[in-house]
Amino acid sequence: MADRPTDERLEVRRSARRRKTIAVHREGDVIVVHAPMWMSDADVQRHARDLVARLRRRERPARSDTDLLTRALWLRLEFLPDAPEPASVRWSDAGSRWGSCTSLDRSIRIARALEGAPQYVIDAVIVHELAHLLAADHGPGFQRLIARFPDNARADAFLAGMSYAKGVAGDY
Ligand SMILES: [Zn+2]
Repeated sequence: MADRPTDERLEVRRSARRRKTIAVHREGDVIVVHAPMWMSDADVQRHARDLVARLRRRERPARSDTDLLTRALWLRLEFLPDAPEPASVRWSDAGSRWGSCTSLDRSIRIARALEGAPQYVIDAVIVHELAHLLAADHGPGFQRLIARFPDNARADAFLAGMSYAKGVAGDY
């Protein structure tokens, strides 16, 4: 959360030409807030807060396939050491499922839509797919495997919310 550089500062620039909206962009360590003349300082601060948060989210470094594989190997050791080691774990733009796996080549794919999700959500989907390397269906054996990961309920709630917002089924 607190990943913002300490020397970063905000600078508000007022413009008579600007009529309605406020906008933000970065110039090095400075985040410039463009605001219309008439808007009160309080309103500028309030609108700027949301826009700056969005700007920081966009600037956050993307998680790579390597990050994903490293995480999966760690999760396997921690929770499912009896599962075979995955050969590849990749972000996928295809399909509407949060995750999928092919046990034949031990490959796992995680929906890119989850890239910005909290780590425990991504972890839960990875653990789910790792468990599929041991059990193909969602039967009692599978449930016992994924129950070793402590954050499933919280992750499922988050995923249900995302499915609703996106209007997709979002199975995995
Ligand atoms: Zn599944």
